[in-house]
Amino acid sequence: MLTHLFRMHGLLVASHPWEVIVGTVTLTICMMSMNMFTGNDQICGWNFDCPKIEEQILSSDIIILTITRCIAIIYIYFQFQNLRQLGSKYILGIAGLFTIFSSFVFSTVVIHFLDKELTGLNEALPFFLLLIDLSKACALAKFALSSGSQDEVRDNIARGMAVLGPTFTLDALVECLVIGVGTMSGVRQLEIMCCFGCMSVLANYFVFMTFFPACVSLVLEVSLESQEGHPIWQLSHFSRVIEEEEDNKPNPVTQRVKMIMSLGLVMVHAHSRWIAEPISVNTTVGIPQDGTGFHQLSPRRIEPEKPLWHFYLTRMITMDIEQVICLLLALLLAIKYIFFEPAEAESTLSLKNPVSTSGLVPRRSAESCCRKEPVAQPLTAAQAVAQANRAETDEVIRPTIAADLQENNFFVGGEDDEEQKSEAAPPSLPSNPRSLDQCVATLNNPTLGPSFLSDAEVMLLVNSKHIPAYKLEAMMERPERGVAIRRKIISAKLPSPTALSFLPYTDYDYSSVMGTCCENVIGYMPIPVGVAGPLHLDGRQFQVPMATTEGCLVASTNRGCRAIALGGGANSRILADSMTRGPVVRLPSACQAAEVKAWLESTDGFQAIKDAFDNTSRFARLQKLLVGLAGRNLYIRFHSKTGDAMGMNMISKGTEQALSKLQQHFPELQLLAVSGNYCTDKKPAAINWIEGRGKSAVCEATIPAKVVREVLKTTTEALVDVNINKNLVGSAMAGSIGGFNAHSANLVAAIYIACGQDPAQSVGSSNCITLMEASGPTREDLYISCSMPSIELGTVGGGTNLAPQKACLQMLGVQGASQDCPGENSRQLARVVCATVLAGELSLMAALAAGHLVKSHMTHNRSKLNLQESPGMCSKKAS
Ligand code: NAP
Repeated sequence: MLTHLFRMHGLLVASHPWEVIVGTVTLTICMMSMNMFTGNDQICGWNFDCPKIEEQILSSDIIILTITRCIAIIYIYFQFQNLRQLGSKYILGIAGLFTIFSSFVFSTVVIHFLDKELTGLNEALPFFLLLIDLSKACALAKFALSSGSQDEVRDNIARGMAVLGPTFTLDALVECLVIGVGTMSGVRQLEIMCCFGCMSVLANYFVFMTFFPACVSLVLEVSLESQEGHPIWQLSHFSRVIEEEEDNKPNPVTQRVKMIMSLGLVMVHAHSRWIAEPISVNTTVGIPQDGTGFHQLSPRRIEPEKPLWHFYLTRMITMDIEQVICLLLALLLAIKYIFFEPAEAESTLSLKNPVSTSGLVPRRSAESCCRKEPVAQPLTAAQAVAQANRAETDEVIRPTIAADLQENNFFVGGEDDEEQKSEAAPPSLPSNPRSLDQCVATLNNPTLGPSFLSDAEVMLLVNSKHIPAYKLEAMMERPERGVAIRRKIISAKLPSPTALSFLPYTDYDYSSVMGTCCENVIGYMPIPVGVAGPLHLDGRQFQVPMATTEGCLVASTNRGCRAIALGGGANSRILADSMTRGPVVRLPSACQAAEVKAWLESTDGFQAIKDAFDNTSRFARLQKLLVGLAGRNLYIRFHSKTGDAMGMNMISKGTEQALSKLQQHFPELQLLAVSGNYCTDKKPAAINWIEGRGKSAVCEATIPAKVVREVLKTTTEALVDVNINKNLVGSAMAGSIGGFNAHSANLVAAIYIACGQDPAQSVGSSNCITLMEASGPTREDLYISCSMPSIELGTVGGGTNLAPQKACLQMLGVQGASQDCPGENSRQLARVVCATVLAGELSLMAALAAGHLVKSHMTHNRSKLNLQESPGMCSKKAS
């Protein structure tokens, strides 16, 4: 209910900023003019000498007062700095300044309106400044700044009001009541100050609830218009995040304490003002009372003959030393703030350095990543909010960091690198590396860390083994910086120090590489990705991504796809799905090895092993064991389903567990290697060809004679002839195992690289026998089939988790785990591979049959560069 009221109020104020601003200003002027009508428009100290008791001003008082004033000025300075953390040096600063000013004017006017004289205003001013808490303004502004349109500004201000309003109200009430206690102290000066303080709190609250949101709304309206609707701070869901922030939610316990406190204070006030009033009157000794402890005597003009401007000028020139100190301090801080502190553009939250909500690393030049200064990591919205809040509230950590910075010789600003200016403002680093000890201390300091070390210093730490070179990405504040530093270290050791300049490394998500895909990273290898298709397969169409540097390959596959499509499409089947791992174990004797073999082949033995194996994964399911024996060595080939994963890690894990179980039954069994090459992984082996490994697939198509002639530019007869003599007899002559094809590996490797498969597994995965027959009534059509018994691939795990590779899997609609049936995505990918191989075989075989192969490779695959620059050409020219 209360929240709703505040939300409505926020919406009203934000929707009618002009009305609110004009209304507030008018009210102020009215109050002032009403004061004038009452004739009491004289403010003590402002060329008016108010009647006061003769007091002896002690020098200790002056010192305390000067210190208080200085503290107040520094406090305000920090408040402004906090506002800057939000990403605004001036907009919010000015709004904040205006809040202070207007609160001050308001309270003055209100006090004036109530006919209270303002003796001691000078003394009260610093205390008044200490009462102002711009963090409230900050928090509300955060809500508004996340908006992308004027409507959003209103909504967000309303939401901000709903969240912050009740707390502010209660805070103002409690502050007022607490300060109000001072008005009953009996010490006149304190009473005046406290009264002024109360008024200030109320006026501040009033301004905050009306004037400030109206100003913010207006400023943002103008800014958004000038930025054509782009939010100044690109944090579209920022306000929601803030709304959910614990800090901004009223703490029920604190709220309750405040309520109880205010109730207690109300009772104290009631008691002392109404019940015990006569006593309180008597306590303000010697001073005429009006029931509130204030004078009703008229102030006297100090220098009636002087015009006001002359009076003030004289006063400024003849300032006391304490006033000079305060003024100098204020000036100094103002100069520091305006000239020596980073401008709006450098804020981590401002538009020029937008928060990356998509998780993409913003594009930067290669050079910029090698620079010495650390760059603030792009923040997620939640991190940005946390950082802003931390900056506002963490009074404990900030001084610690400041001290650490000083201790470690950091300084802010100094380097005029343009790039650096557009980044979030990290500390500038010393141009010369510091001592090893200092670097180690900085690295190990939890509040500093690697971002406070220059690249040269990090390299020093690597050379001195304080940072293991392989851990650079993990230890730096950003993995990319670790990669950049490693490149520097490596470059210095290369025959050509500029060798790596064309190996890119920026704008890459190393977090998905670390600990999964690659170590000692120095960049990434961009490989052209082509597309072949549409591939008509099993009634569906696929666009097949192929990463290759072999010219003709994609074009040739594309031609094959076209021939298949014109022939009505290809059809495929999965014959088997089972990954294998083949450890080698040793027993004391061949007979004992034979006993183990027999036990494994028994139902009980298999079941015991299966239970242990299946326990290790949600997807790995042991299907069979193939056991081979060589003397006292036993080779056990575990066959298992692996869901959508290629499954080598998964199955290795299962195998290890199963072998432990086996060891429990046969304690004398000795595990020699978890992979005994009986798997067989990444090596040519007949066992994969015969027994199958991974997915076993078959694909077939019939190509009409016309298509053979017009698209493939050959005849069925020629194709069949070449296939027999090349792919069958030729391979047999070469003693091939599984290589009864023209170039299956070409297609497999290209798809594997594009789709994040383990490229080394193209060895076994390329096993393929391509068969061609004449078919149809006239025997002029071509029937072609490709049988591939060992396609080792997956759609989860390994390189399939990298974003570009994911994209290629998505092209085929097989990315990730199949929701309907685990393993279905990887099986579908295997079918696509098999059909693409068929398309490739068709086209290449046709080129061979037609005698086009060399010609097309000379046109599309020969490097123009080499032809022009090779020494051979030179010598030819010379001859
Ligand atoms: P993996 O990423 O190690 O394992 C797959 C993970 O995905 C498992 O944790 C599995 O859960 C989970 N998963 C979630 N949904 C799944 C689904 N629908 N189907 C299957 N798993 C699912 O991947 P891997 O295929 O086993 O191993 C691939 C990596 O092994 C590649 O990087 C490859 O280069 C490398 N490799 C290793 C060896 C070796 O000898 N270890 C050999 C060659 C290649 P569970 O935890 O429940 O199983």
